[in-house]
Parts: sequence; structure tokens; C-alpha cells
Amino acid sequence: MDRVEAVVIGAGVVGLAVARRLAMAGLETIILESQPIIGSETSSRNSEVIHAGIYYPTGSLRAELCVAGKQALYAYCASHGVPHARIGKLIVATSEAEIAGLKGLAAKAEANGVHDLVWLTPEEVKPLEPEIFCVAALLSPSTGIIDSHQLMLAYQGDAEAQGAMLAVQAPVAAAEVTGEGIALDVGGAAPMQLMARLVVNSAGLDAPAVARRIQGLSPATVPQEWLAKGNYYVLQGRVPFRRLIYPMPEPGGLGVHVTLDLGGQARFGPDVEWVTVRDYTVDPKRADSFYAAVRRYWPGLPDGAIQPGYAGIRPKLHGPGQPAPDFVIQGPAAHGVPGLVNLYGIESPGLTCSLPIADRVARELGVNQ
Ligand SMILES: Cc1cc2nc3c(=O)[nH]c(=O)nc-3n(C[C@H](O)[C@H](O)[C@H](O)COP(=O)(O)OP(=O)(O)OC[C@H]3O[C@@H](n4cnc5c(N)ncnc54)[C@H](O)[C@@H]3O)c2cc1C
Repeated sequence: MDRVEAVVIGAGVVGLAVARRLAMAGLETIILESQPIIGSETSSRNSEVIHAGIYYPTGSLRAELCVAGKQALYAYCASHGVPHARIGKLIVATSEAEIAGLKGLAAKAEANGVHDLVWLTPEEVKPLEPEIFCVAALLSPSTGIIDSHQLMLAYQGDAEAQGAMLAVQAPVAAAEVTGEGIALDVGGAAPMQLMARLVVNSAGLDAPAVARRIQGLSPATVPQEWLAKGNYYVLQGRVPFRRLIYPMPEPGGLGVHVTLDLGGQARFGPDVEWVTVRDYTVDPKRADSFYAAVRRYWPGLPDGAIQPGYAGIRPKLHGPGQPAPDFVIQGPAAHGVPGLVNLYGIESPGLTCSLPIADRVARELGVNQ
């Protein structure tokens, strides 16, 4: 059995950030990815937004790591040439009834350390985004967009420059906690067995399932997972916006918003569809609900202008109607297995938080450099 210092399970944006962090601390690191390419699950099925840190409960990991992650990510993108743009976003209230909620978001953002939000009247919104209807809006200048695939390639490049190795088509099938470390059974194209001193389970939607296959880890420490699909529709033709436009958040998500990609294309989404199977097809029948949601803030959306796009699935730790728990970065102090960190429920804003999540994981493992 080959021995290695650290194994990261999963080459999504979080797994790659963690592998980069461990490799840069001088640890011999292997990344095991079940798919043929990196980032083919949630990390390539999201809004590619660098979030400001507005929505999350004050004091939560999501709030703290989002504000820190945003700053770290802008600096990283600048120093590593990762395509991104700080285009800003508007959160719009479309009825008087939503104004109290918008004020609540402004207060929460302030408490979270987001101090640059600007309250706008409809008259002030008009010259910025002439096609938007609202009764009030919040401008978030520090929200941006990013090419998530280029980000992942940059993390991978940094990790490999420090000697890390990526193995694709290398699913972790089982593991066992032993006196010498964690023994991993890897299937796929070139089955192998590895003994690792440190293991980070960053398998995204599969993280709870992977954890349940670790013999020696108490199943009672593994949370129940839920799946909340987010569907996107793409806009055909002219895009009338220069910023991201968000309605007030809805249970389970941030509301069907307008996201622009770096090529200038617009997409609408993600909605919230609780599912039990992982299926990324977008049902054309959902179009009516998208038209209704978008026309509340863009009444001029023409008929026939949107087409089904793609979907992502949020790795939730709560079901419909239940309160949303925080990110879970579960280290030895919580589950009792030395050298193991499990990452659960890393949904939005996990991409924005990827660098400080990696720092937290390193800290849990006692890797301090
Ligand atoms: C609809 C939607 C919109 C979002 N929008 C944003 C946004 O705008 N901004 C933002 O900051 N965040 C956003 N997020 C959150 C962000 O996309 C995720 O937090 C992030 O991509 C999670 O990365 P990850 O590496 O944890 O998981 P993943 O990208 O899912 O990676 C996990 C990897 O593990 C691999 N794997 C699974 N099982 C095994 C195994 N047994 N062995 C080996 N490998 C395995 C998988 O193949 C996969 O590649 C959004 C999420 C969703 C669903």
C-alpha cells in the first residue's frame, strides 16, 4: 500500500483550494477525483458570482468566510490572472411590502462587515439600469463575477507547482481508520490503495455518502443530506443590464436573479426545486414560473426570450421549510478521528469562500504554515 501525507477527495473548487493550501504548506498531497475532469459537478453548475457577504446570519461561518473570501479571491484573481469583473449588483424590492426585508438585509450586511452598500430610490436606479422596476434597491459595489473554471485551473496549477498530484477517474470507494492513518480504497481506471496521514473529504454532494463509507468514523457524526436543484434559463438576444439584478431572497435560495457571465451573456436563476435524484436536465415547463419571477423586476422581458439552460444542485443539510444550517467543517475535535476533515453542506457561497475554507481545514488538521 502506497503511503502519502495528505489526500483530498474531490476536485471541485473547494477541494482544489484545500489541496493547494496543503501542498503550499509542504505536504505531499494527492487529489482523488471520481470524474474524468476537475470541477464537473457543483463547481461548474453555479452562478459564478463573487458574493459580498450580505445574506448570511451574522456570526456564521458563511458570513465570516464570505467577507474574507471575497477579499482574498479578488486579490488572488488579480495576482493569478483569473478572469473576473467587479460589476456590482442591485437587490431590488418590487413592492412596499418588501422594503422592510430590504432594510433588514442592509442591517445584516453592515453587521457582517459589508460596509459599502448604497440605498437607492427608483429615480436613482433609473440611470443605472433603465429597464428595472423597483420601489427601492440596494447597490452592492463589491459583488462580482468570475470564471470558475479558470479559478480551479489556477488552484490546481498552484498545487501541482508544489508537487501535488491529481488523479482523475479515481473514486474513493471505501476507507478505514487504522493506527497508522486512514487507508483508502480507490476504484476506477487504475484501482489502488493508499495510506494517508491526513484526509479531507471534499466530495460535495457525495461528502456524506463518502463519510458513511469510512470504517471507524461514527455514522452519528454524518449529517442527513438533502438536494435542492437550481434551474437556470438563458436569455436569447440583447442583454439590457450592466449589473447583476437580484430580487428579495426566497426560502432555500437567493431568488431568481439575473447573472451576467464574462462574455456578456445573461442567465436567470437559480430557482429552488427540492429533488431526491441527481438529474441536471432543465424542465421546459418551468419557463412560466421564470417569466413570472423575472417580470416582477423586468416587466419588459419579451415572450419567447428565455430558453432552458443548465442546473446545479445545492448540497443541503436541511429539508424544505427547515432553517438552513451553517457550513460544516468537521475536524477531529468534532468526530474523534485524527487527521480527518469532512466538509458538509458547502453550498453558496462556497466558491467565494474557497480560500478561507482551505485555511480552516488546514487549521483543523494542525497545518499551520
Ligand atoms: C445553483 C447553485 C448556484 C451557486 N452559485 C454560487 C455563486 O454564485 N457564488 C458562490 O460563491 N457559490 C455558489 N454556489 C456554491 C458553489 O458552487 C459550491 O459551494 C462549490 O462549487 C462547492 O465546491 P466543492 O468542491 O465543495 O464541490 P463540488 O464542485 O461538487 O466537487 C466535489 C467533487 O467531488 C467529486 N467526488 C464525489 N464523490 C467522490 C468520490 N467518492 N471520490 C472522489 N471524488 C468524488 C465530484 O466528482 C466532484 O468533482 C452555488 C451552488 C449552486 C448549487
